[in-house]
Amino acid sequence: MKDEELVKIISCLKDPDKNVNYINWVERGYLMNQGVLFRYAPDSESEEAQLVVPSHERTLILKNHHDAPMAGHYVAEGTYTRIEKNYYWTGMRKYITDYVKNCPDCIKYKASNQKPSGLLQTPVPAQRFETLAIDLFGPLPESKDGKRWILIIEDCTTKWVELFALPNATAKECAITLIEEVLLRYGIPRRQ
Ligand SMILES: [Zn+2]
Repeated sequence: MKDEELVKIISCLKDPDKNVNYINWVERGYLMNQGVLFRYAPDSESEEAQLVVPSHERTLILKNHHDAPMAGHYVAEGTYTRIEKNYYWTGMRKYITDYVKNCPDCIKYKASNQKPSGLLQTPVPAQRFETLAIDLFGPLPESKDGKRWILIIEDCTTKWVELFALPNATAKECAITLIEEVLLRYGIPRRQ
C-alpha cells in the first residue's frame, strides 16, 4: 500500500463495482490472492504467478538475486531470468539492466576480465607439499660428471627448497627427477 502505482491496481481489483479499469488490469494478468497482488505473465507458458514487487522492495530483490554470495553476479539477462520466475514490476527489465550496469563488483571484474571470485576460489595454502613451484637454472659450466643445469623445486607453503643437478634438463629428465626425488618422498601435490 506504500507504492502509489500498485495501490491503484489493488483498490481497483478489490472494488466490488468492477469499473472499466478492472478489465484492463485483469487482462494484463493482475489478480489478488488473499490480500496479495500477483500477476500471471499473459505471454508466458508458466503456470506460476509472479509476486508484484512494490518500489521500495526492488533493491532487496536485486541484492538477493545478484550480489548475494551465492547469487554469483550474473549478467543482466541472467539476473532478469532468475528474478522474473517469481517477481514482477513494471519496467523490471530496464531496472535490472541498470542495476547490473552500475554494480561496483561487476565493473571491477569486467575491467580486469576476471570472473567474480566465488567462495571456493580463495586459495588457502594450508598443507605442506600441496603446491610446488618448479624452475630451472642454467646452463652453467659443466661439472666433472657432466651436469649443467639445476632443477629447483620449492614447496610453496613451507618454502622448503630442493635442488638437483641435471645434465641436459630435458622434460623427461625433469619429470623423472620430480617423480623419483620429490613425489615419491612427499606425495602428489593436491593442486596442479
Ligand atoms: Zn555484480
